[in-house]
Order: sequence, then C-alpha cells, then structure tokens
Amino acid sequence: MKANLQFYFVVKLFFVPHILKFKRPFSIAHGSRDSTPVVFTRLEQNGIFGYGEAAMPPYLGENHETVLKFLSKAEKVLQKFSTIADADTILLEVDNIENRNTAAKASIDIALHDLIGKLQNKPSHELFGADKQKNIFTAYTIPIDEPNGIQNRVEEAREYKILKVKLGSADDKKLVEEIRKHTDKEIFVDVNEGWKDKYFALEMIHWFSEKKVLLIEQPMPKENTDDIAWLTSQSPIPIIADEAVQRFADLEKIKGAYSGINIKLMKCTGLHEAQKMILQARKTGMQIMLGCMSESTCGVSAAAQLAPLADWIDLDGPLLIKEDYFDGVKFSEGKIILNDFPGIGVAPVSNLFK
Ligand code: MG
Repeated sequence: MKANLQFYFVVKLFFVPHILKFKRPFSIAHGSRDSTPVVFTRLEQNGIFGYGEAAMPPYLGENHETVLKFLSKAEKVLQKFSTIADADTILLEVDNIENRNTAAKASIDIALHDLIGKLQNKPSHELFGADKQKNIFTAYTIPIDEPNGIQNRVEEAREYKILKVKLGSADDKKLVEEIRKHTDKEIFVDVNEGWKDKYFALEMIHWFSEKKVLLIEQPMPKENTDDIAWLTSQSPIPIIADEAVQRFADLEKIKGAYSGINIKLMKCTGLHEAQKMILQARKTGMQIMLGCMSESTCGVSAAAQLAPLADWIDLDGPLLIKEDYFDGVKFSEGKIILNDFPGIGVAPVSNLFK
C-alpha cells in the first residue's frame, strides 16, 4: 500500500529565556539593577529562521513568566499559518492575544521582520526605505555615579558624540556640572518623570539649556499632560515623551504637549508599529527619538533598521551588557553601522537555541 504522505508547513516559534548582566549596576530615578531578563525568539518557515528579543524593564510589568506564558499562546496562533506572507494578519492576531505584553509581542514582530527580509533577501532597512549611508550617532548613557566616578564614565564614553544622563540623584545640577568639568559634548537629559512642579521643571530646563543640553526626556509624570504642554511652549529645547507614549494610540493623547517622542520597540510591540508611529509623528511635526531598553544586539539591530528615519538615536543597550548573545550591528566611532545582511542582520551565538 502506498503511504499517503502529506506535508504540513507551519510557522514555528521557539523561545528561550536569558538574563543579561550589566557591566555595572544601573541606577535611574526608579531604582538600581545589575541585570535584566530577556527572552530570545526564533521564528521558522521552511527551515529559514528569523530572530527576535523581548527585553523587560520593570516599569513595563513584564517578566520571564509573563513573556513565556504569552509566547506559549502565540505559538498556537502562529501554527495556524503555513506562511508568513500575510504578516499584518499574523501581527494583528498576536496583538489580540492579550492587551499588554508589548515586549513579548515585539519579540515576535522582530523575528517576523527578520524572516521577511531573509525570504526577500533584503536588509530590513532597505525594505523600510531607510538610507543606510546616513550617519547614525548614538547617545551613550552615563550612569548616575558619585562625582569622583564621573570622570571615568566620561572617559569610557570618549568615542560617543552625545552623552545621555538619567537624572534622579540628590543634586541633578551637580551631576551635569561635574560632567562639564571633563567634556563639552552635547547631552540628552532624561528625567524619567522625576520633576513634580512645572515652575521648578522650567527653571531646571533653562539651566540645562545653557549647559549644552540638547533635549529633555519626560520631565514630569506622564499624567501631567497640561503641565507638560505648558513646559513645551516655554522651553528653549525640545521636550520628548517617553513614558507618556508607548503605542501608536498614545500619540492622540499627547497631541500638542511634546516636541517629540521616544519610540522603543519593546513599548510599541515592534517594527511594524514603530514605523507607523514615525510616519504619524512626522505628519504632526514631531521629532523622533529612537531608544531601547537594556537589550542585546538582537533588539538593537532591529531598532537600528529604522534609525536613519529618526532625529535622535539612543541605542546603546549592547554597550552596557557584559555578554551579548548576538552578532549584528556594530558600533564604531560613536556611530551604529548597519550591515547588508538580509532581515535585521543578526546571527545568534551557536548554542542559543539548542
Ligand atoms: Mg527615557
């Protein structure tokens, strides 16, 4: 009797949790951490692999448990598809699994875009219409430190044209004054919602603007939209929304209140929505910053595919971790260098998915 052989092609999802250790503890206004949980994903169609990553800062409310649970549900959704040809439908179905889980969703979106690029043999930046020749200067984060440690941090950042400072120390002016003793590089200041009074915030912004600070990120709590709109109208430098804007739908809520937005794949569910946000922000005259969480070269290589379309780049995640699990974009002379490999241009360490 002849065997009745039938082949069922399905889109397969694999995922593996990891901990990324930081080179040194990382302090911001909300506390201090020395590592961060991540989950790496691999999406397969007919033996071709796309890679992704979910990184989970505490404020997004995700952890290994929630991401693994979400991805188990997503695995079943993806098995319904025999091809990734209808990527929009796949992403919509994944988005509908749960309301939140933006980092888990991003890990699928990134792997999907990587796979799409590989199947078309084109780098994702080309598919996004981003000009690879444009210089992508990334900011480098100076962690909050004792004043006598600042000199070393500034020295470590010597390749980078722009420094980023996260406020939240006892005396934020002193921190910037200390940096100014060692360098006159431009600075991004991230307040992480730390200022509670708009008059105090404006006084600080004026002071910082005279210290070659280029922009201020999330000066006040995200709920204080009216106060922030007033600040933006008074501020000599751009006011950028970070905590206030996670997904596309948030753009409507902050209309007119900020000069620009900080887009991060882990907040907005990935490249698909990030690109939509870039287009929408441009339409409404807002500036675009592209940021990341503490994540590996996988997540940052994905975000970097959109970097030529942004005004400000803050993609230093891989520089702050001890051990990377992916090869991908490179950092050279303060710039991110995109490659021409298809998809997001990454390769995992050999035993990552074993
Ligand atoms: Mg921020």
